[in-house]
Amino acid sequence: MAASSEVVLAVDIGGTKTAAALADRDDVLLRIETAATPASEGPAAVIATVAVLADRLLGTVDLRLSGVGIGTAGVVDAGTGTIVSATDTFADWPRTPVAALVREALGDLLLPGAPVVVQNDVDAHAAGEYRHGAAAGSDSALVVAVGTGVGAGLILAGDAVRGAHHVAGEIAHLPTPGADHLRCPCGRIGHLEAIGSGIGMHAHFRSLGGDAGIRDARGVAGAAASGDPIAQRALTESAAAVGRALAGAATILDPQRIVVTGGVPNIGDAWWRPMRDAFHAEAIDALQSTPILPGTLGDDAPLRGAAASAWRAP
Ligand SMILES: [Zn+2]
Repeated sequence: MAASSEVVLAVDIGGTKTAAALADRDDVLLRIETAATPASEGPAAVIATVAVLADRLLGTVDLRLSGVGIGTAGVVDAGTGTIVSATDTFADWPRTPVAALVREALGDLLLPGAPVVVQNDVDAHAAGEYRHGAAAGSDSALVVAVGTGVGAGLILAGDAVRGAHHVAGEIAHLPTPGADHLRCPCGRIGHLEAIGSGIGMHAHFRSLGGDAGIRDARGVAGAAASGDPIAQRALTESAAAVGRALAGAATILDPQRIVVTGGVPNIGDAWWRPMRDAFHAEAIDALQSTPILPGTLGDDAPLRGAAASAWRAP
């Protein structure tokens, strides 16, 4: 590991995996450790996993932490480092005071006064792409992750915009034409996530009468590539819904750049082309030149963003 006199701990708590890294002043990840997230076992087990990873990372170096940055699944009150709400994957995660519990669990691994910053994982991802990835050098960016679900982070003038209810920028629940027959995980009908996410693409495919043997978006993309017309339609319309929602979001936010990341865009041109076409069909003239770029940091984005947030804590 590179010699560095000051490090922060960056943590990405996902539904299945928790990754932790030591990062230097430039948010460069010096060493990464991962473990399964015991999401169903409750908050104490999840926090204990973070502490185990920190021990493992610091075990070989004589350093204490200058700060901790955490990105986690769920809606987060970043001001207090507390979970506001979360999906059922995480038992008892709502109302968990993650910042306080991590501070307690790490104890004297932390330097006195070191900040513990907790935010939503997609917001951490957005901070990474904003500082070091596809949005580096821009003043404002909307970063949208399209995977199993849809998440987004919004940064204006260098600061993450959280909103009055901690959901600013969350285009997942934007009413989106073309999704009127599908139920969103939030329980409502017609939101972007209901058709634009990986699960949504598959649900749309099934609603069109697609092959019941195909179980997920990856399968839909494979069938589309092999010429299945229903799969091609589902893929195109799912991607178009994302482009349409991005045009709506751009109309309100007018970000300098839009960055799109996650597993679904990895489908490639068959997804990007209809997504971009739908954006350009909906966006007003002034927004036509807004760059829509793929993320460049991949899995490192949330960790680098969490590190950046720890170093820049007020
Ligand atoms: Zn919804």
